Amino acid sequence: MLRLYDTRLRAVVPITPGQPGALSMYACGPTVYRDAHLGNLRTFLLPDLIRRIAEHSGLAVTVVQNITDVGHMLDDTGLGGDGVGADAGQQGEDRLLRAAGAAGNALAIARAFEDSYHRDCDALGITRPTVSPRASESIDSMVNVIEQLLHSGHAYVGADGSVFFDALSFASYGAISGNRLEALRPGHRFEGTTDPNKRFHADWALWKAAPATRTQLVWETPFGRGFPGWHIECTAMLLSHLGDSVDIHTGGIDLRFPHHEDERAQTESVVGHEVVKHWVHAEHLLFEGRKMSKSAGNVVLMSDVIARGYDPRAVRLAFLEQHYRTQVDLSWDSISAADRMLRRWRELISSVVGSTDFSTTINHSDVATYVREVADAYADDLDTAAGIRILRTLERSSHSLEIKAATLLACEPLLGLGLDTVPDQDTGYGLVPSEIQALLDERANARMQRNWTASDELRDALSAQGWLVTDTADGQVLKRVR
Ligand SMILES: [Zn+2]
Repeated sequence: MLRLYDTRLRAVVPITPGQPGALSMYACGPTVYRDAHLGNLRTFLLPDLIRRIAEHSGLAVTVVQNITDVGHMLDDTGLGGDGVGADAGQQGEDRLLRAAGAAGNALAIARAFEDSYHRDCDALGITRPTVSPRASESIDSMVNVIEQLLHSGHAYVGADGSVFFDALSFASYGAISGNRLEALRPGHRFEGTTDPNKRFHADWALWKAAPATRTQLVWETPFGRGFPGWHIECTAMLLSHLGDSVDIHTGGIDLRFPHHEDERAQTESVVGHEVVKHWVHAEHLLFEGRKMSKSAGNVVLMSDVIARGYDPRAVRLAFLEQHYRTQVDLSWDSISAADRMLRRWRELISSVVGSTDFSTTINHSDVATYVREVADAYADDLDTAAGIRILRTLERSSHSLEIKAATLLACEPLLGLGLDTVPDQDTGYGLVPSEIQALLDERANARMQRNWTASDELRDALSAQGWLVTDTADGQVLKRVR
């Protein structure tokens, strides 16, 4: 049985779906105003890991993941929560409208980044969600939820026409993060300035009245012309796509507070009971020792990984080698090592697939035993690191190549490493062909021996085959030139 760490219960607990044979999951999705970096992508891998082990154990999994394309304030609570701290700009500034600039079409920009988001997730082997509702197309359900909250007295209209959630009306606020309302005092946890339209400083906006200067991403509603707060979109989309009982809600650790606290308060206040059974959070990604963030200047995109000639699935493998609740410290070295491992596994498979020995090996009992061990590791709070260790032990063992290849292939639905496909070279997302890699290795050798003539000749040979090589402080960087 699948067991996961439940943030609210602060324990690893068995996951028993509300509906027998089916698992429902809501995953907080991207705000599509810039490319997701590897740290964001690690968070978005979490629902995919849960989905794969749940499907392996026979469950039908539904995943709903929102696309935030209405923009939201860099800090719309004034609370200075974890989710906005590192990248927070001027309060009251809208991320998407800022990205669009004065003349840009904000929704067109959002669509472009939504496309790159899906492309990056595909590259990482993340199965697409069952539904990816857009906030801009879910305004009606948000209005509906806000009306219910106003009606039941959990929300009120401020002096400027904005609608706020009355935090004090929800007794168990803080259950996920431990940030209880009484501790959120100005000068303590509370770091922002209080919006004078709020009754209580920890209240948050469900609907914001738009200033006349805002011409994009505004909607006419019964509360006037405005735009939604961030937290309300997840409540509205979760309720409209999954109903009033959801097995698992995922997100990055940043989202525990205030986003998930606020979301939980809204959702439960509408429905009248606990809706999300388990809250599951992925830890931060560190890159070369520091949290990956724009302000730390260490943002790495999937396109950067590909430009260096690595397979995007190498990043996935590097993620799998660590537990989702640990702060993975990724580096170019660890991506490179994972890339080599992935290459070895693919070569191992292609060396035997199709042979007569191989076709009889697939049903070997040793293969089934290994698959069970890997699945057991996954089911134990997603211990993917243990799963990969089992496969590395197998790789070094005295088993036949056929057993090794068959086991890797049988584990592929859990791993998502694309071991069963030939990578597409033309997309730039695939493997570097072995003959190109050989030229590149030869050139690295030539450079070590300071043989510049040979180095130049090899660069020309690569270029003739459509591969551009440049020399950087980190070594050769290979790029497919189309
Ligand atoms: Zn959310």
